[in-house]
Amino acid sequence: MNILVLNSGSSSLKYQLFDMQGETVMAKGLVEKIGLEGSELTHSPAGKDKVNIVTDIPNHSVAIELVISELLDPVHGVIRDMKEINAVGHRVVHGGQTFCKSCLIDTNVLAEIERLVELAPLHNPPTILAIRACEEKMHGVPMVAVFDTAFHQTMPAYTYLYGLPYHYYEKYQVRRYGFHGTSHRFVSARCSELLGKKDAKIITCHLGNGSSIAAINNGKVLDTSMCFTPLQGILMGTRCGDIDPAIVTFLMAKEGLDPKAMDDVMNKESGLLGISGVSPDMRYIEEAAAKGNERAAVALKVFEKTVVHYIGAYAAELNGVDAIVFTAGIGENAINARANICANLDYLGVDFDAEANNCRGQEVEITRPGSKTRIFAIPTNEELMIARDAQALVQGK
Ligand code: ADP
Repeated sequence: MNILVLNSGSSSLKYQLFDMQGETVMAKGLVEKIGLEGSELTHSPAGKDKVNIVTDIPNHSVAIELVISELLDPVHGVIRDMKEINAVGHRVVHGGQTFCKSCLIDTNVLAEIERLVELAPLHNPPTILAIRACEEKMHGVPMVAVFDTAFHQTMPAYTYLYGLPYHYYEKYQVRRYGFHGTSHRFVSARCSELLGKKDAKIITCHLGNGSSIAAINNGKVLDTSMCFTPLQGILMGTRCGDIDPAIVTFLMAKEGLDPKAMDDVMNKESGLLGISGVSPDMRYIEEAAAKGNERAAVALKVFEKTVVHYIGAYAAELNGVDAIVFTAGIGENAINARANICANLDYLGVDFDAEANNCRGQEVEITRPGSKTRIFAIPTNEELMIARDAQALVQGK
């Protein structure tokens, strides 16, 4: 069975075609600048040369058409007939309180994803465009929606409710949702396997451009650091993470910012970039800090402190922890950040293995045998998780 996985952004579309027999990637690629000047597609078929096509791509429908034509292309293609695509898995950012697991897309599901645009005005609309484009171009191929929020729907009310008047929850569903759920699910399941323990207490640290941490007990999320939007929690590339909410109204008044401008400050001008003034990218911050840039050095410290803070909070909420997982760009690759974070975990009985930690992008245990709490770096694979869900649902499992 072959599954096409689509991850749609407002001006981009990432895709991977999986052969589920060996869970191998047949081809993957990226369409960029959809609806903008200089739109292009980069297509990487397995075992063949990468192709770059610069052409006018005005909307998601044309993008999907182009992806299909590349997959079918006699030279760069990997399939001969569209019938060889057995299902499409869509990454959907917000499933609200409605979706606690992945599901086949029908008119009702699509209508609900549309209704949830209110909660995810930037993220759900491009996915809706991609779903409609697939309906149009790939008529009859079953589609599955896999939600970033779904895995976190097991959170109990006492972790998802804010200390706001309850009627705002009832009226607008203002509550903690959590994001990166597909990644937290993937790496926590793998960690459980490595531990040989189904009912493990695990803290998963997805540290990338966007970062979130989750506390997982027996396969269920107890708490997670992202909240109503992907803005809260860890300090991120350009997002502020936790701040005193009163700062928002204070700065709006002082700087004469309207809600959109304030939103931009917190989402696009803050985080590692905001403190360092160097870059949102961890590699450049590390480089600048090593050369003596003090703001870059303090940005790194703030980042590491927020991770240490959440690990401590979640170890307490879980009342113990069997394992901690680092994943995503920073979690899988930033050797120093991992080491600095782990240096604060003696109280959990962590016996850190600096030599094992000295690697990037690999699945590795970075604690020594006998460590009371074990720590792993596990590369995430959200696309594979989406493909697995799509396969299971179309096979009726
Ligand atoms: P996204 O959230 O966009 O998927 P990623 O998971 O790809 O992001 O993570 C991007 C982050 O990972 C960037 O801050 C980048 O600097 C960091 N990163 C990637 N490789 C390294 C590395 N070798 N050392 C330190 N940080 C790294």
